[in-house]
Amino acid sequence: MPELPEVETVRMQLHHKVVGKTISSVEVFHNKSVNHDETIEETLAGKIVADIDRVGKLMIFSFKNESDVFLLAHLKMTGQFFYVDTHGDVIGGGHSMGDSDGRGFPHKHSRVAFHFTDRTSLYFNDMRLFGYTKLATAAEVAVARSKFGPEPIASTFDCQWFASKLKKRKTPIKAALLDQSFVAGLGNIYVDEALWRAKIRPTRRADKLTKAEAALLCKAAGDVMNESIAVGGTTFQHFKDTGGANGNFTDYLKVFGQQGTVCSRCGDTIKKIRCAGRGTHYCPGCQR
Ligand SMILES: [Zn+2]
Repeated sequence: MPELPEVETVRMQLHHKVVGKTISSVEVFHNKSVNHDETIEETLAGKIVADIDRVGKLMIFSFKNESDVFLLAHLKMTGQFFYVDTHGDVIGGGHSMGDSDGRGFPHKHSRVAFHFTDRTSLYFNDMRLFGYTKLATAAEVAVARSKFGPEPIASTFDCQWFASKLKKRKTPIKAALLDQSFVAGLGNIYVDEALWRAKIRPTRRADKLTKAEAALLCKAAGDVMNESIAVGGTTFQHFKDTGGANGNFTDYLKVFGQQGTVCSRCGDTIKKIRCAGRGTHYCPGCQR
């Protein structure tokens, strides 16, 4: 499943490529992917993409001179966005995929295509059909935004606020960090990595963390997300024209998926347990 760093990486790429372009037509290959809305093509044709914003893992497209028409996009389990230029070069990502999935559009998992007047296109692929690209009103966007807390990667994220909120939570710290209405954007991988960096066990009660630990965790959460975004997330793949190396945060993971291997900090053996209903990785040697 794409986590926030992958979604943010995709958003930044698309922002760079798509903002300012005029939609010429929308092709719907599967109705479920547009929430069975038969007006989507008519509504979006001629619209100019003004911005691509994001809250949590939800992408929000807005349009020039339109205050009540938005496009919400969620990759869910297997969604991908691919931008194809006039030379056939492809940029995109989301769910991890084999090489062949980055070529030939539309292909069997393409669900929606947004064509632009400059003959470039944006494809939404989704093998399992849990994701969507759907129209929304301003009121619906406001509701969607209200479900997410602040993000540790935001420059305005307040570590003192974070620490004071933790004091009111009696759940394991892992569960608190996964709660998107509290802090948005930390998925399973990044929670485990942030807790390892802060030397805190995932099973510790949130309200029992010391001030110093909460401060370390606040910084670790932001750092781990930003570093992952910098290398393109854990599952993001990009193609021909982005240049540079294929970034992948998987190479940097210290505990996630590392059970049975040696902790790079203390030499103890990484363990995998279940916590907050999720597979959870930690080092018994250096996380307290
Ligand atoms: Zn360790």
